[in-house]
Amino acid sequence: MTEKKYEKNQIIEIQITDLGSEGEGIGKIDGFPFFVKGAIPGDTIRASVMKVKKNLGYARLQEIEKASCDRAMPECPVYGRCGGCQLMHLKYEAQLKYKEKKVRDALHRIGGVDEDVLNRVTEPIIGMGEGVLRYRNKAQYPFGTDRDGNVVCGFYAGRTHSIISQTDCTLGHSVNREILQCVLNWMKEFGIAAYDEVNGKGMLRHVLIRRGHYSGEIMVSLVINAEELPHAEELCQSLEKIDGMHSISYSINRKNTNVIMGDNYHVIWGKATIGDEIRRNESALQFDISPLSFYQVNSIQMERLYSAALEYAGLTGKETVWDLYCGIGTISLFLAKEARIVYGVEIVPQAIEDAKENAKRNGIENVKFFTGAAEEILPKSNLPHPDVIVVDPPRKGCDYACLDTMVKAGSQRIVYVSCDPATLARDVRFLRENGYELKRVRPCDMFPNTYHVETVCLLSNTQSKKKESYITLDVEMADYYRIKNERKNSTTFSV
Ligand code: SAH
Repeated sequence: MTEKKYEKNQIIEIQITDLGSEGEGIGKIDGFPFFVKGAIPGDTIRASVMKVKKNLGYARLQEIEKASCDRAMPECPVYGRCGGCQLMHLKYEAQLKYKEKKVRDALHRIGGVDEDVLNRVTEPIIGMGEGVLRYRNKAQYPFGTDRDGNVVCGFYAGRTHSIISQTDCTLGHSVNREILQCVLNWMKEFGIAAYDEVNGKGMLRHVLIRRGHYSGEIMVSLVINAEELPHAEELCQSLEKIDGMHSISYSINRKNTNVIMGDNYHVIWGKATIGDEIRRNESALQFDISPLSFYQVNSIQMERLYSAALEYAGLTGKETVWDLYCGIGTISLFLAKEARIVYGVEIVPQAIEDAKENAKRNGIENVKFFTGAAEEILPKSNLPHPDVIVVDPPRKGCDYACLDTMVKAGSQRIVYVSCDPATLARDVRFLRENGYELKRVRPCDMFPNTYHVETVCLLSNTQSKKKESYITLDVEMADYYRIKNERKNSTTFSV
């Protein structure tokens, strides 16, 4: 590494050779790495130095001297300012390669998996060949006030809470724009103020929109900083004219937090839920989705992801399966069709209500759902011994108590579905250290144009099933696995 000192605003010329975990270009000068947002491998660029730390520096892209052949023209007018997408300037094939590498790197560096094992177990990423725009079935638009006092809605600029005005995100459905325009007109007409997170005043915080991929049914939920929604009738009168409108509600959130939705919601027009279906091979399952429940945002890729998870589960009809972090039971119900019995565990009560309804709606009886944190329910409950465990946790991964119980339960197979390669790798390391072998890894691109990547892993038990053979980790280890909790993320794309 060079001894050379860099100064702020100094202009440097760099060849970009790699992409960082959040899609930033990385290039080295005499071995010293600089991170440059907006640059990609194959670019030669001029950049101005922003900040220099001991082992790395950050620089701002000034000029592309030679463009990489992987460069693409972003199809969004606010790309680069909005924080939602990070890879739209990269051709899709290169985005997929980047994501494959991201998963491999995490499993190698954090998970301790050898390269030769990874060569053997990693399968090609499931890409989205049919097009990488307009795929999101869900949007959450924040509202605020601009410098001139006008209400704006759009997206947060990267790593900030200042709102870039934009009512037609190119990853979302084009009907979003019409819905948001109705809301903006209604606010203007009735003098409804946008929420101000600095002083905690104002009414409207966010608008959540969901649209069923196959059903076309639309849900709109307003997140408000008040006990009631004023002029609700007038709002509904204009929203109900939109083709597909099915459910209008509001959710009260008066807390000063980054969590978008409140704890509950009130329906003001139509149904409480929208319906949609998920197809697999020749069959399809019907689902009701409420405003507070998790539902995968990319319906096309969700079907492919679930298919991979089901294939990895290797069910024959005889198995007892635990589906941890089950949401509204999407994976549970597909598992139930191929297993003897499925136990689903989920922390959000409304999601479990949806899950029970969904089981009924599809005539599936061999599934039982439990409300609560997996890490609390599992050690206490006496769920029957599982042959297969499926886990699909949020970005922070599995809690230590949950992993510990899984290991003690000693299922033959664990199928781990993850939306964060780093926490996946941390948990895979734990499972490998406790008798499981990594058998298959399949990344899946649920979120084209962003740096996010979903992964399905199959781990199989190499230990005997006797309880004595499990290693119990001590408290220090528990703390070790609790580190690296959820990353602070200020963009609005929830995954
Ligand atoms: N498998 C579902 C949901 C996956 S998202 C699907 O594919 O649709 C992760 C889910 O974990 C969310 O529904 C979230 O509410 C739930 N969750 C978060 N923390 C949890 C915890 N500690 N215990 C159980 N469920 C949790």
